[in-house]
Amino acid sequence: MQVEVIQQMDERFVLPTYGRQNISIVEGNNARLKDSEGKEYIDFTSGIGVVSIGHGNERLSNAVCNQVRHITHISNLYLIEPQARCAQKIVESSGYEMQCFFANSGAEANEGAIKIARKYGEVDGEAKRYKIITLEHSFHGRTITALKATGQEAMHNYFGPFPDGFVYAASIDEIESLLDDHTVAVMIELVQGEGGVQPLVRERVQQLAAVLKEKNILLIVDEVQTGVYRTGEFLASQLYDIEPDIITLAKGLGGGLPIGVVMTSKKGVLQAGDHGSTFGGNYLSTAAANVVLEVLNAYKESGVLDEMMLYFESQVTACQRTFPEIFLHSVGFGMMRGLRVKDADTLAQVINRSRDAGLLILKAGKNTLRFLPPLTITKEEIDEGFVRLKHAVAAL
Ligand SMILES: *Cc1c(COP(=O)(O)O)cnc(C)c1O
Repeated sequence: MQVEVIQQMDERFVLPTYGRQNISIVEGNNARLKDSEGKEYIDFTSGIGVVSIGHGNERLSNAVCNQVRHITHISNLYLIEPQARCAQKIVESSGYEMQCFFANSGAEANEGAIKIARKYGEVDGEAKRYKIITLEHSFHGRTITALKATGQEAMHNYFGPFPDGFVYAASIDEIESLLDDHTVAVMIELVQGEGGVQPLVRERVQQLAAVLKEKNILLIVDEVQTGVYRTGEFLASQLYDIEPDIITLAKGLGGGLPIGVVMTSKKGVLQAGDHGSTFGGNYLSTAAANVVLEVLNAYKESGVLDEMMLYFESQVTACQRTFPEIFLHSVGFGMMRGLRVKDADTLAQVINRSRDAGLLILKAGKNTLRFLPPLTITKEEIDEGFVRLKHAVAAL
């Protein structure tokens, strides 16, 4: 179908919640994409950190096709073998003594995390505890409660009334002063993704974790974007050497299939009937996640993931040095990286010109150019992507 035709249908029948770019991707191979007009792109977005083992991965498509041929969905009222295996893989890769609940998205996983915390706050101790502290510039999702947990007041302009009990700290240093007898949890991203690829300081997080543990306040880490090797370790929580009480995953776990997970060491809090999800953890999404985990566990073990992450970092840094008047400095870990751009206008131009030059790349916050390539991106694809980026920026 022609781009113009799709665009007309989209404008007529799809709600305009996204400022869409009018290209239609029809095929992908690892970090290379092709649109309906035959134009080729390098993908530094991986569908916002989702297509972690690349586009068109053969093992993944075989596993998914194979699963569909047998059974796709049965309901959580029955045992689901790939779900059980997926939970085992996640728990064992994390090294934490936890159990998993399966959902379909990041927001839904965070809703589950908030429910666990809220129930914990009701049944543990004498006074009911319900307050959850999150950070300004955070992003936790679009459902009403996840949106309220998101520390960006501009996103709360409509849609109220919201659930009560969310408090925002201006920075991690302010969190301790906000803790009180009603506080049940603190929820953070270790590297704020949508907020601008902003990592928290490791020592401060460790100090905070110790204080929370002492006060029996739960630490929830939203690893929807940072999880599944995005920052180099299976979880950013491992990179930070902390032991959260609740962790959420989503984006990169399914390799493109919708999946979310909330995992917790508070195993007894939710009982049968307290929580659920029709689609969550079904055969299809967990069969996909199992392949993603097998591929990435082996990739990490081989040392190549770390090697490629170092290489990617060196290219981001080199790009910053080539254009110091446009890119102020580089931020991030692993393959979750950003370049601070001097202003929002320039950032928009960089993204548009990159697309024209055959490179898909993201923004984060107001002034950050964001890199989230497939974790399996090759050296050749990285090189090609940066050639195109430099080409686009040089023409500004
Ligand atoms: C993307 C994201 C979410 C929301 O995930 P959805 O799958 O879009 O609901 C939540 N938290 C973080 C940190 C994210 O990056």
